[in-house]
Formats: sequence, C-alpha cells, structure tokens
Amino acid sequence: MMKKVIIVGAGPAGLFAALELMDKVEVLVIDKGKNVDERFNDIQGVGGAGGISDGKLNLHPKIGGDLTEFISDKEAYDMIDRVDEIFVKHGAPEEEKLSADELLRRAAASGIEFLPIKQRHIGSDRLPALVNSIKRELEGAGVKFSLQNNVEDVLISENVVKGVVTEKEKIISDYVILAPGRAGSTWLSLVMKKHGIPLKNMPIDIGVRVEVPSSIYEDVVNINWDPKFRMRVPTHDDFVRTFCTSPYGFVVKDTYGKSVGVNGHSMRHKRSNNTNFAFLVKIDLTGPVEDTTAYGYSIAKLATTIGGGNPIIQRLGDLRRGRRSTWNRIKRSYVAPTLTEVTPGDISMALPYRILMDIIEGIDMLDHVIPGVSSDSTLLYAPEIKFSAMRIITKEGFETSIKGLYAVGDGAGVSRGIVSAAATGLIAAEHLIAKL
Ligand SMILES: Cc1cc2nc3c(=O)[nH]c(=O)nc-3n(C[C@H](O)[C@H](O)[C@H](O)COP(=O)(O)OP(=O)(O)OC[C@H]3O[C@@H](n4cnc5c(N)ncnc54)[C@H](O)[C@@H]3O)c2cc1C
Repeated sequence: MMKKVIIVGAGPAGLFAALELMDKVEVLVIDKGKNVDERFNDIQGVGGAGGISDGKLNLHPKIGGDLTEFISDKEAYDMIDRVDEIFVKHGAPEEEKLSADELLRRAAASGIEFLPIKQRHIGSDRLPALVNSIKRELEGAGVKFSLQNNVEDVLISENVVKGVVTEKEKIISDYVILAPGRAGSTWLSLVMKKHGIPLKNMPIDIGVRVEVPSSIYEDVVNINWDPKFRMRVPTHDDFVRTFCTSPYGFVVKDTYGKSVGVNGHSMRHKRSNNTNFAFLVKIDLTGPVEDTTAYGYSIAKLATTIGGGNPIIQRLGDLRRGRRSTWNRIKRSYVAPTLTEVTPGDISMALPYRILMDIIEGIDMLDHVIPGVSSDSTLLYAPEIKFSAMRIITKEGFETSIKGLYAVGDGAGVSRGIVSAAATGLIAAEHLIAKL
C-alpha cells in the first residue's frame, strides 16, 4: 500500500514538497486558509504568505536564509536551479539580465558588498495564476487539499510520528511535513516544545523603509530589480542591508500582532513615481537575554504608541536635524509618500539609538553608490521589522528528532523567502522518498 504523507501548510515550502512527493506517496495538504483567489491580503491559504507577496524570486542559496547551512554549496546551487525550473514551468517571467560590473566597482569602492543575483519578478497581480497552476498540477496527480482546516497537534507514539489532529478530525499518516510559515511559527514552537523537540532563537532585522524618487534608483534596478547591498557601518560595526526593493512601488502597512509596521511592494501593471526598499540592521542577542522576537515586538509596540496607532513617517533631513516631520514639511519635499495612513513624527523616539545610528550611517554609505539616497527629502517609514521564527533543530533533510516528522520553511526558522522556503520543502521530500 502507498505510504501517506500529511503536509501542514500550502505555502511555497508545502507546495514544493507536495510536487516532489506526488505520484510516489499519497499526499494530503492541510491549510487553515482558503484558495489563493478567495483571499485578500491574508497570508494564510494556498500559496501561503508567498501568495499575496510581490513574488520576487531571489535565485541564490544565500538570500532568504542560507541553504548551505544544510546542504553542500553544489547541492544548494543545484536546488535553486530546480526550484527555478518549477516556477518557470508554472509561469514565472523571464530572468532579469545582469551587467553589474560598474555597480560592483562603485559598491566596493564605498565599502559595500553588492550581491548580483539572478532574479525573477512575478508581481502581486500575476502570482495567483502561478499558484493556481501549481495546485492544478498537484490535484491532477491525486494530491488532496483540506482547506480552512486548522492543525492543532501532531500525533506521536514512541518517538515516531503517526499523524495530526485538526480542529475537525484526527488523521493518521506515515509521515508529516510541517510547513506552517511565519503565521504558524508560534503554534509550531509550542508543539515542538510540547513534544520535547529542541529550538533556538534566530537573529531578526529591525529598521525602516526608505522611499526615494524612482529616477534615483533607476540605473540600479535596471541591473537588478531587487538589488542587495550589504555593509558594516562605522560606529557600531553592525551589519546593515537593503532588502525587498520595490521599484516604482508602494509602501504598505504591515502588522506585528497588535503593533503596526511597514512593508513595500510593486506591481507589474501599476506604477508610482517612487522606489522604496527596506533598510535593516541585523539584531542578534547573546545570553542572558536571547529572545530577539520579544525585543522586536517591544520596539514595534513603542513605535505604534508614538505613531498613535500608525507607522511613523519622517524626512531624513528632519531626522538629522533632530526635529519631527509634519505634513507641511513633507509636502515641501520632492518625494510624495505612497503611504499616507502614517503619522509624521520623529523616528528617534521609536528606534533605539544604536539602530538609528546604523541606519543614518548606512544611508550615507549607500549614497556613494546611489547618489541622492541620503538627500534631506528622502522619506523614512518606521518600523520595519523582519522577525524570524525560532529554528527547529533538525537532522539531515529537516527531519526532527521524531522519526518521520519534518519541519521546513519560514515557520521552522530555516528559510526567509519564497525560493528558499520552496527549496527546504524539496529537500525534506527528497529525504523522505529516499527512506521509502
Ligand atoms: C507581504 C509579503 C511580501 C513578501 N514578498 C516576498 C517576495 O517578494 N519574495 C520573497 O522571496 N519572499 C517574500 N515574502 C516572504 C515569503 O512570502 C515567505 O518567505 C514564504 O511564503 C514562506 O513560505 P512557507 O511555505 O514557509 O510559509 P507560508 O508561505 O507562510 O505558508 C504557510 C501556510 O501554512 C498555513 N498554516 C499555518 N499554520 C497552520 C496550521 N496550524 N494548520 C493549517 N495550516 C496552517 C498558513 O495558512 C499558510 O498558508 C513576503 C511575505 C509577505 C508577508
């Protein structure tokens, strides 16, 4: 009889695991959300958080996590190629062409690392079709979906997984792959702790969203749609990076529990006159206080308080001069904000001194590569926080200490992006197949 595998979570990690497993085992994918075209701005459902994202595919093993922590460099690059092939088969657009020599030179001369990487940009408006195409292929191969069904626990007996318990029923299986994403990471940590599976805290990123006229960024995004600049800033020697650049895009509100923050996206068919990107400081805490998540939430809470329930917006020039921004001052600026549900204020009232210094110094460094970025008119929105789930300590192939139980994707703290999440799903599925 065919072995049965339950996959919890229909995000990229779960869907790619299912693609690898279909035809070889009986697969049931359970997700608490809905189909991709039945939800709006909900990170839960088929396609996962990836389903409502901008769909920027960063095709590099060290972006969105680091696959080489788990497999060899060669295997990691090969895995990225496989993930890419699948995305292309389901409609991902042409890869963006790189001619990065001049940018590499400018960045290196300013003490900044520029990572030229292969990227594809699907766009929020085209992503649902791609997700539906993957789902159709899975269903065609006999994979079953149980949607709007919340998994509450994992069944384990004598250190071997036996299935899951959902809000509706108990389902028995030979293997379980847990891929619940960031939305399910707290639940996952609790289940892991309950069953004695070890976890550890991971670094998080805290910073701002920077918005500039698109003309300033044009030559850079012509080289790489989502350019990755990384640097060590002078005073604190902290690691600062650009992330999730949205050319001609829009800044959007985000939420962290009860607190607010910002994010950004760009669309294929609707353009603004601005480009925005996250500018983030890596925060890793060492003993006795290691809880990076609690630290991130306390900053989000403070920012939400000082922003009166909205994210804070400030001109870089006002921040430098130690004064708050007002709508009048922002109107005098050359950059019209794409997000107006914000409170003009003073970001230094919300972010710790060290993070603020890192950001200002980092923007000044970046100005040598992208002249104009550190102009007084540049808009900063705060806070932008990229939390990371606690990492579940796993063995080869992301199998936990419980036989037949796997944990992959962003929820397990082993990825932080669509491509890397998908890759971890494939790796777990390959490992599982090898055991059959
Ligand atoms: C607004 C936004 C924009 C983004 N833009 C990009 C981008 O451009 N490029 C990029 O690489 N990454 C982007 N990301 C990140 C990317 O979406 C994630 O890294 C990726 O989706 C993680 O995949 P995953 O499969 O691990 O988890 P997810 O995609 O989060 O999927 C997890 C699924 O599990 C389900 N689930 C959780 N708990 C349970 C439970 N107990 N029972 C049943 N189901 C459960 C959820 O409903 C969800 O559908 C973005 C994220 C957001 C929120």
